Amino acid sequence: MNFALTNLGGKTTPHKPVKYRKVCLHCGKENTTRNYTCDCRGEAWQKEYRTLGIEFELDEADERRGRQSFLDYDFDSSQGILQYALLPFAAQGPGAPETAGLTPLYHLRHLSACYGSEVYIKNEGDNPSGCFKDRETLLCLLNARRKKAEHAVIYSSGNAAASAALFARNSRLHLLTFVAGDTYEEKIEYIRNHGSDVIVIGEENTNFEEGYRLFSSLNSKGIYTRNGYDNWSVRNPYRVQGDKTTALEVVKQLSGNGPYWMAPDYVIVPTANGSCLAGMWKGFKELYELGLAENLPAMVSVGIENANPVFKAVQENETTRPVKGNIEKLEESDARIGSIIVAEEGYDSIQAAKAVLQSGGTAIEVKRHHIRKAMVDFLMKEREKALEHAILPEPASYTALAAIGLLRKEGTLAPKDKVVAVITGHGLKAREVVEEMIGERPELQEVAGRIMEQKKEDMGPKAAIKGKRIQVEASYDALAEAFLRLAKEGVG
Ligand SMILES: [Zn+2]
Repeated sequence: MNFALTNLGGKTTPHKPVKYRKVCLHCGKENTTRNYTCDCRGEAWQKEYRTLGIEFELDEADERRGRQSFLDYDFDSSQGILQYALLPFAAQGPGAPETAGLTPLYHLRHLSACYGSEVYIKNEGDNPSGCFKDRETLLCLLNARRKKAEHAVIYSSGNAAASAALFARNSRLHLLTFVAGDTYEEKIEYIRNHGSDVIVIGEENTNFEEGYRLFSSLNSKGIYTRNGYDNWSVRNPYRVQGDKTTALEVVKQLSGNGPYWMAPDYVIVPTANGSCLAGMWKGFKELYELGLAENLPAMVSVGIENANPVFKAVQENETTRPVKGNIEKLEESDARIGSIIVAEEGYDSIQAAKAVLQSGGTAIEVKRHHIRKAMVDFLMKEREKALEHAILPEPASYTALAAIGLLRKEGTLAPKDKVVAVITGHGLKAREVVEEMIGERPELQEVAGRIMEQKKEDMGPKAAIKGKRIQVEASYDALAEAFLRLAKEGVG
């Protein structure tokens, strides 16, 4: 495919949503369950991992509208990602309170010279809650609204919950967040400050996976849906539809005004659950199939050593069943940096591993010293750009820059290759770790400090009413009882 694509005639009018159906990713059957579940494999993990995907039925007119909406996609539009016609939801009316995306792509001139390839960062930290999860949350929210659900539940220990809390608050939807007992108190406070109620599962030794299994067992019994709560956890098939728009934006930003639309050679995504990587790959493929991208990128997953199920799945070429990371071998110092991307299981890792393998990409593990070096290099070499745009990724995001160094070293990258590293979050939310990593470099501390001061002013106001916090023992009955109690209060 090699044709120049310019305007197809006529501005996109607010589009009607495209026709789609939800299908099981394992048996392929259409699935309309309200709790996003299929029992075809009859195995416990299927109740936890994402099971459903969304398939479009596009006719020629839909494809034409899809292409046109790509060409018209405007980085100043108040419609944000909803400008793209090939989403399950149409753009909203003017003045809609929810938006996401339209984040900047920066070329890093000095790091490019240093690594010997063309290095770009896609700064997802510029989303409303400071994280790529906002693209996913927006799609969950619109789906909940269409179903007339006024309530939602989510299980998360960090960014996904903060994003959900922000969007739920803005549209007056009651959100109940479940977290594991080992979640940092600061994070729980952050989520409550955004107005979400929080149920803490178990004691300090209750980990993410243990809590998630309990959360999922309530979901599979239909307890949430029966009480009018939509499940916004990683099971929700609408999430990856939001991530598609990151791919679209990268192609547009990299190609200027066209008419040749190019995807990067490599896209590097910090990976825990794997949904961002899986969703971006879906986006690139969609553009390619529509003739809107001349090429497909190789997708690279990067995570922390021994806490990276996608890495293991890629190594073992396993794309039909879940693979667990070797979390027992995770080193304490590595765990501290990457609390957001440390994962024993990745609940979308099957799809992420497929994406890496299909795209001819690779998976990489990094350690604390790699991340530290990437952070020092970025703040030293790209100091001006970082200060000018207040770019200070959360520590876990430097894994993406660290991966470029490793790919270069092993000879994977060629000098002219275009490499996009997805970064997200903000160092402001992990001040202690940032200071720990660059403690002995006062000149870098000063740069980081100045960016944090700038950014502080942009971090929106807190909710008027702080969410409740209750702690329950790690058992099915205790969790169900707590959920029903808070659900009743939330409704009343
Ligand atoms: Zn199935």
